[in-house]
Amino acid sequence: YSNKYRKLREEREKLPIFDALPQFDKMFNKNQVVILQGETGSGKTTQIPQYILEKGYAKGKLVACTQPRRVAAMSVAKRVAEEMDVELGQQVGYSIRFEECAGPNTLLKYLTDGMLLREAMTDPTLDKYGVIILDEAHERTLSTDILFGLLKEVLQKRKDLKVVVMSATLDTEKFLGYFKNAPLLTVPGRLYPVELFYTEFPEEDYLWATVRTVMQIHAFEEPGDILVFLTGEEEIESTCDSIRKEAARYKDNVGKLSVIPLYSSLPPAMQQKIFEPAPEVNSNGIPGRKCILSTNIAETSLTIDGIVFVIDSGLSKQKCYNPRMRVESLLVSPISRASAKQRAGRAGRTRPGKCYRLYTEKSYKRELVESTAPEILRSNLANVVLQLKILGIENLVDFDFIDPPSPETMMRALETLHYLRALDDEGELTEEGRLMSEFPLDPELSKLLIISPKYSCGEEMLNLVAMLTSPNPFLRPRDHEDAADKAKSKFVNKDGDHITLINAYQGFENEGRQPYWCSKNFLNPRTMRGAAEIRDQLVVKMNKLDIPIISNKHNISENIRKCIISGFFMQVVHKEKANFYMTLKEKQHVALHPSTGVMRPDWAVYHEYVLTSKKYIRIVSSINPEWLIEIAPQYFDLSHFPDTNGKKLLQEIIDGKNTQK
Ligand code: ADP
Ligand code: MG
Repeated sequence: YSNKYRKLREEREKLPIFDALPQFDKMFNKNQVVILQGETGSGKTTQIPQYILEKGYAKGKLVACTQPRRVAAMSVAKRVAEEMDVELGQQVGYSIRFEECAGPNTLLKYLTDGMLLREAMTDPTLDKYGVIILDEAHERTLSTDILFGLLKEVLQKRKDLKVVVMSATLDTEKFLGYFKNAPLLTVPGRLYPVELFYTEFPEEDYLWATVRTVMQIHAFEEPGDILVFLTGEEEIESTCDSIRKEAARYKDNVGKLSVIPLYSSLPPAMQQKIFEPAPEVNSNGIPGRKCILSTNIAETSLTIDGIVFVIDSGLSKQKCYNPRMRVESLLVSPISRASAKQRAGRAGRTRPGKCYRLYTEKSYKRELVESTAPEILRSNLANVVLQLKILGIENLVDFDFIDPPSPETMMRALETLHYLRALDDEGELTEEGRLMSEFPLDPELSKLLIISPKYSCGEEMLNLVAMLTSPNPFLRPRDHEDAADKAKSKFVNKDGDHITLINAYQGFENEGRQPYWCSKNFLNPRTMRGAAEIRDQLVVKMNKLDIPIISNKHNISENIRKCIISGFFMQVVHKEKANFYMTLKEKQHVALHPSTGVMRPDWAVYHEYVLTSKKYIRIVSSINPEWLIEIAPQYFDLSHFPDTNGKKLLQEIIDGKNTQK
């Protein structure tokens, strides 16, 4: 073994999980399901799968360990490959949406819960796995919840399969109640006391408060790294910049400060930076410090050693679903008290730490909820229902959900799939439904790709779907708004923002996917590269499914928008007056988002519903209402529509059509 292996081995033996392994061994051997709870950083994710592998408990089959987050799956796989002294992708690999790093030699695979669910669609008893570990179970993501129900059924059929449920110390009762005979093993954590600080008054600008707090810690506190919890890529990057600028002003009086972002769309090489040691002492002998600005990835999924100070904005991006609007959105929302405790805990792993909460003690006690509802209660279930249908689960009402979704949400999902023609009138899967489930996308988006040959816009739809699956690519840095808007105007198409996205992607492709070209055009190079990777994967899928990629420039704008309607006919609005629109069936008032480039059309299809202080629709294209009736007559059966001005106009169009005949 190499020296590096020996050194890592020593580190591993110091982890709290190490002493619990004999007990784990006993429980694992006696039971089909074991529940393991342990403090973040105790070694669950890196050590338990390796242990099972070393003991040969998968009996020649694979060990799977699920992670709710892509970043965690990649990063942990890499770490474990190092610990085992093997090359990543060989014995140890990972699998995430649009990327597989595993092969015929792989024995241990870290994969997102969503990917394991996809694998179940082609292999319903997950036969290639001997042991399945559902990690981060406390997160209660949509996919993990569905896997619970599925595995419960598979465990009946496969007595040789073993399941380990791992979770941070939170609400484990629920799992005990669900897996009736499973024993619980609790790994005692080593947590040092963390001193809490609140702000006296609510912060008006938590980003600026973050910069200030980082600088105060850096200038006045003892050595130790800083971890900041913010909500997303854009604000993390801009706050990183602000901190770097501030730090440059202080430079002689303080140590070196290395400021590192962490969020899911960051490329793997950049993600690794969080594990690099803090900068060394400067010429005045002052030690350096690492400051990581992260989304809630660092809450429980990734452990970063050396953190002594935590700054908690009290916010995170959370999925919300409004079944009336049928739309799901990511909203910046207050975290729960359980999350706040987890975040604070990150400061006390190696020695006593401090946590600065950028909110008042009163709001912690009165405004934060105890814990967040599981994702399944906050999601659009169309995709899940489609997957369950593929898995052969006919009676969804009998499916053993830990927390069953509301009947309304379930019904909406079935209805949506029926409108999309994924299910027929009897609720049976159609051929089109089967094709839709092949793509790792929401069914509306898969529909665009599947139907694209009909409208001769295959290339355009691939561009569009890749872009819609990626974060917003258009950069608009403070103080450069005019230059950014000017750059964007080259791509803007007044028929709609969808075409603007297609154009931006096409430009990127025409320029040989150059990052430099992106920066020059105020497009986020990372987002664009990510979109290109997704697009490549989608092309592979299209070829595999024998869906021809046909493009014809004739009448292309109209064809693109017709194609979009094929998937998104449920997201249509009609203009009431000026900038005010109304959705057709749900009668919700919405406004065009300021970022949209369309000229207030009478009718439009939109991609996203954004709820801020106002209700907005974002990524909007103008349409001709006649197309609606032509393309989605199943939905535009007006006898089911509430009486609105939009309905009246549509009725006139239909009547007009009939009289012409
Ligand atoms: P848990 O799953 O219980 O939260 P982990 O197994 O993820 O704990 O982490 C155990 C230890 O391994 C931590 O101390 C962490 O610092 C270390 N570790 C995990 N991943 C990496 C990595 N990619 N690079 C360096 N250290 C890592
Ligand atoms: Mg873990």
